[in-house]
Amino acid sequence: MIKLCNLGSGSSGNATYIELDGYGILLDAGFSFKELKKRFGFIDKNIKDVQDIFISHNHIDHIQALKQIQKHKPTCNIYQNNFPKEIRDIQITPFLLSHDSPCYGFDLTYKDFKLTYIPDTGCISEDAAKALFNLKGIENHVIIIECNYDLKMLTEGRYESGLKERIFSNEGHMDNIESARILKEVWNDKLRLVLPFHLSTENNNPDLVEYEIRKAVGHGVDVVCTNQGIPTKVFYFI
Ligand SMILES: [Zn+2]
Ligand SMILES: [Zn+2]
Repeated sequence: MIKLCNLGSGSSGNATYIELDGYGILLDAGFSFKELKKRFGFIDKNIKDVQDIFISHNHIDHIQALKQIQKHKPTCNIYQNNFPKEIRDIQITPFLLSHDSPCYGFDLTYKDFKLTYIPDTGCISEDAAKALFNLKGIENHVIIIECNYDLKMLTEGRYESGLKERIFSNEGHMDNIESARILKEVWNDKLRLVLPFHLSTENNNPDLVEYEIRKAVGHGVDVVCTNQGIPTKVFYFI
């Protein structure tokens, strides 16, 4: 059985827990250790359930708990590089994204399940597109994808122009329309669940995101926005 839960997402912290037949993996560890422990508690899990941590990039909202985790669970493996890994029957393949710090997405496959994790990126890189479209042997595909901002809200919002330019750029963050566009292209009957990720609390709105993404993938696919303040429910795949 596979269990999946985004423990929280946004510019103040990101972490996603996935458990594959009892083997726990964390994608990013961007909350304080105390906060991360609390959020694991919400789903009746513990940091001790994590065997491996894969880090997308060096921004604090993705790495904040690392030092404390190393202290409290020194046997936990931490990976932050572009080398594919095979752990038991789980394959994890990093791919380069387009961000202002070198950032990797991850393609995680196990049996006929696949999770494509696309955190901070200004656009869909060629490698990310390859990962999204490679569905050989896959029956259940889950996509976690950045939907950082609504173009109109960011354009008209109160951020100063330099910061807006940074977010807009190809090495910044991805907006709802761009994520929806790629999801529409990727859509097929193996796609089960989309978790829009890294929503800005200032320049986005979950209703807008869900509207755009549902329009792109249709009603047969579950769309559940991640939230900065609380974990999503736990999703199960057999
Ligand atoms: Zn981030
Ligand atoms: Zn970042």
